[in-house]
Amino acid sequence: MTEEAAREQINRLRQLIRCHDHLYYVLDDPQLSDQEYDTLYHELEALEQSYPQFASADSPTRRIGERALKASGSTIAHNPSMYSLSNSYSEQELREFVDRIRRNLEPEPVEFVAEVKLDGASVSIAWRQGRLAWAATRGDGRTGDDITTAVRTIRSLPLQLDEPVDLLVRGEVVIGRRDFLAMNEIREENGEQPFANPRNAASGTLKLLDPLTVSQRKLRLLCYSENSGVSPTQWEGLQRLEQLKLPVNPVRLLCDDTEDIIAFCQKWEEGRDTLPWEIDGVVIKVNNSRQQERLGYTSKAPRWAFAYKFKAERTSTRLLAVSLQVGRTGVVTPVAELEPVSLMGSTISRATLHNFEEITRRDLRPGCLVFVEKGGDVIPKVTGPAEATTSYNPYLVPDSCPVCETSLVRAEEEVSWRCPNLNCPAQVRERIRHFVSRHAMDLEGLGEVLVYKLVAKNLVRDYLDIYSLKAEDLQGLEGLGELSTTNLLRAIEASRSRPAHRLLFALGIRYVGITVARTLIRALGSLPAVAAASEEELVAIQDIGPRTAASLHRFFNSSAGINILQRLELSGFNLEQSAELQTKVGFFNGLKVVLTGALQRLTRDQAVEAITGQGGTVTGSVSGKTDLVIVGADPGSKYQQAVQLGIPIMSEEEFVTKLAE
Ligand code: AMP
Ligand code: ZN
Repeated sequence: MTEEAAREQINRLRQLIRCHDHLYYVLDDPQLSDQEYDTLYHELEALEQSYPQFASADSPTRRIGERALKASGSTIAHNPSMYSLSNSYSEQELREFVDRIRRNLEPEPVEFVAEVKLDGASVSIAWRQGRLAWAATRGDGRTGDDITTAVRTIRSLPLQLDEPVDLLVRGEVVIGRRDFLAMNEIREENGEQPFANPRNAASGTLKLLDPLTVSQRKLRLLCYSENSGVSPTQWEGLQRLEQLKLPVNPVRLLCDDTEDIIAFCQKWEEGRDTLPWEIDGVVIKVNNSRQQERLGYTSKAPRWAFAYKFKAERTSTRLLAVSLQVGRTGVVTPVAELEPVSLMGSTISRATLHNFEEITRRDLRPGCLVFVEKGGDVIPKVTGPAEATTSYNPYLVPDSCPVCETSLVRAEEEVSWRCPNLNCPAQVRERIRHFVSRHAMDLEGLGEVLVYKLVAKNLVRDYLDIYSLKAEDLQGLEGLGELSTTNLLRAIEASRSRPAHRLLFALGIRYVGITVARTLIRALGSLPAVAAASEEELVAIQDIGPRTAASLHRFFNSSAGINILQRLELSGFNLEQSAELQTKVGFFNGLKVVLTGALQRLTRDQAVEAITGQGGTVTGSVSGKTDLVIVGADPGSKYQQAVQLGIPIMSEEEFVTKLAE
């Protein structure tokens, strides 16, 4: 074919295709079968490819409005495969990965590239002689779905490269957080189900057949690797893609020091919200392609790459309502009632909102779709709206207690609102629940429902009333038979002899936790002595601050407090410091101790009592200030941290021996 004949044929085909597009899209009157249409289309494509000098931006081959993909959908084989990444939430495992790589490649030096892990849909895209040829989803890693039509609508993606090269690129299709919100808003206006998160929105959009709708969805592509096998390093591959004007994941670092990798991970774990699109971790890759080859692949993932995943995972769900909880000190806490959603393996239907200010600050409105976030062992929290909030009514802070309707008050320096009514049924039952809880009087038989019933029936008005309960009050409640009633009454009686510090803790005085209670009893010898102490005497005790001192003083000088102390003194409670609490200055005196793993010979509470009984302190996490870590069976990460920081470690055996000394 001469050049002139080719030009004529190209023009004829373009006209013909445009004509059939018009028939198909506008007039809804197709005259060709899909196959006939495809034949024309491919002939044009082939000619345009062979005669790039006649390329034209307005060719139907370059248009968004090309004919929709057939619903059957074709597949494309991946070569090389699109692998997963081995991943972990643990910094320790990341360090181990880096060390392992270094050991395996010794004595060669190793460079790494750290890149943020984009949370979208992965795609593979090919250009032939500079023209976009196809795009596919990851699928099962070996073959993916043909999504060329959808990918072509991504505006940032050149359909034609400046150089006529063959290129294979992997990247992540994402939707910016703002675009996601706007998109959900439109969906809702159209009565459609909003997407749960930007990732679902991106992969859902890629599967759409209608390119026009796709083009309205503001997809973005961020490339993360050049896979044509020509780049000597990952880093240079990315630079090459940038040269070819492809959009490349910009948040990356070339480094050879482990600490720089860790710092990069920490920086972006904290700063993830400052990026316009969602990320869920950092990918660490060996930079050199030859070294990558040496390390090879497992059946699932490259041995030369590792994904460090951020601790929190998030999704979105509907905020059905804000319910209110009244605590034992009267603090009213808003609780988010959520449409149940699964997050990190558990179903979440409630989350605390901490206080009312937070609701306003985050602009959370009942009915609205919201983001819910959960870290490894962190309780779920609602972080913000996942759609435009304007169509929902703002949340109104209540002005009275939801239980007793007393007007709520707020102390100047506090964010929380409180019900000031000491006899508020909600407070009474929460105080009793605290009183009977495990570290306090430990009355297992008095469960939550039973306590609620007793309060509702006005059988108890405060926690000391449970000591006046009679068999006829209890029997029949919550399925309590004769025997269980007798047992419960006996257990209640027996609880009078609990150690004085647990009784003090059970009273539920603000800021007086079990540790503070122990400190107070140990310092002053008895509960009445604590009650009689002045604020000055209290703050003079080590570890007791002015806030706690003031709270104690207020309680024991209130009419309720005076009444409680009198009743305690009259009715056979154990008010004196017990022998076990008397400080025998022992081995653990002055040491900061951390416990990890399961102890076999004594409970954790007993271990804590024993250590503090000798003048030591027990803390929750290992730091540079820790003196000693006691290790039981199946220890957790605290053990590893201790090893790393070179902190002395003690087995349970040694611990028990030391205690006995
Ligand atoms: P996973 O699906 O958890 O096994 O992780 C592998 C996926 O992470 C890949 O298929 C990519 O879609 C995605 N990913 C996101 N950002 C990157 C990146 N910078 N480098 C490599 N993969 C990435
Ligand atoms: Zn109330």
